[in-house]
Amino acid sequence: MIANLLNYDAKSLADFFVEIGEKPFRAKQLLRWIHQSGTADFGHMSDLAKNLRDKLAHLAIIEAPQVISDFVAEDGTRKWLLSVGAENAIESVFIPEVNRGTLCVSSQVGCALACTFCSTGRQGFNRNLTVAEIIGQLWIANKLLRENSSLSASDVSTSERVVSNVVMMGMGEPLANFENVVMALDLMLDDYAYGLSRRRVTVSTSGLVPALDRLRERCPVALAVSLHAPNDALRDQLVPINKKYPLNELLAACRRYLTVAPRDFVTFEYVMLDGINDSVIHARELIQLVQDTPCKFNLIPFNSFHGSGYRRSKAENIRIFRDILMQAGFVVTVRKTRGDDIDAACGQLAGQVKDKTRRTATMPINMEMQ
Ligand code: SAH
Ligand code: SF4
Repeated sequence: MIANLLNYDAKSLADFFVEIGEKPFRAKQLLRWIHQSGTADFGHMSDLAKNLRDKLAHLAIIEAPQVISDFVAEDGTRKWLLSVGAENAIESVFIPEVNRGTLCVSSQVGCALACTFCSTGRQGFNRNLTVAEIIGQLWIANKLLRENSSLSASDVSTSERVVSNVVMMGMGEPLANFENVVMALDLMLDDYAYGLSRRRVTVSTSGLVPALDRLRERCPVALAVSLHAPNDALRDQLVPINKKYPLNELLAACRRYLTVAPRDFVTFEYVMLDGINDSVIHARELIQLVQDTPCKFNLIPFNSFHGSGYRRSKAENIRIFRDILMQAGFVVTVRKTRGDDIDAACGQLAGQVKDKTRRTATMPINMEMQ
């Protein structure tokens, strides 16, 4: 069988070389070629002997998902729609900012956890992404960003055009695709691959407690938890997995995680839903809830989608909610929305593609994670 080398991390690639009768250290060379040079062609790997290149060309491929469309917003935000076969598509979004470039990565096609305000959740679960499909999003982003950085058409500087941060906040629940996500995280962190700092790679979860404990042991990176409600009764409705892992268990798992995490706080995401979870009373209850858990808040104005049944909180209510948290001493960011053409926000990546050729699209994105 032909092996797709994008599916392999350092260890499994070393095993692969042993299996084909080669030295395991070849894995490091290969990782560099694949992930740092961004090549998919064994013929370009000039420090490998010709016969090894030929052998690899017979046994293996380097294949990322195919780019179906490539949107560039006026502010430089870029969205790729990627085909993962059988008419399934996923999206990744690149958000350039002053000192960093953040890629929002998907982990599943659809999601089984059925949060009621999430369009991915409404789709239901289709399948887990492979390692190649997860890391392939980063591979493609780096390759295309690098290609475009030679163009000086935009005012975005070259340093902002590379991926320095990854947030697992695209489609799907990363901890429900644990093994593949951890392998992809390993590649993101590996010095022979992307060499990203643990602090700059964030897993966002709706709260799968046992998997969060496993992540702590296997690959602690920065953590974001989708809280969205200050009590179990409301969270049970919005985030149904709460019935299985209620808030006291989730917060205890967060505190365990922080003992080894690369950052000394958890980021709590809180989607702002008009009349549902955005009152002064909710804010006060939230402060009580998290008092023993070092954290920051990221308030996310709800991104509406057809048939959602929810409305975005009024700007004034978001401001009041934020101020109450801030007055209690918390660091709070409010995710900015850029434009109202809402089909590409992180965590809401199920929008339809209407025009595959247009160069600009407005996207309500701004990650304020790090
Ligand atoms: N499954 C993971 C990561 C993907 S969702 C999780 O739930 O954390 C990334 C973030 O976007 C989560 O905080 C999620 O709750 C939020 N989100 C989902 N749908 C949204 C919507 N319609 N508007 C605003 N935020 C949304
Ligand atoms: Fe899944 Fe996250 Fe959407 Fe919930 S918010 S349905 S966990 S992708």
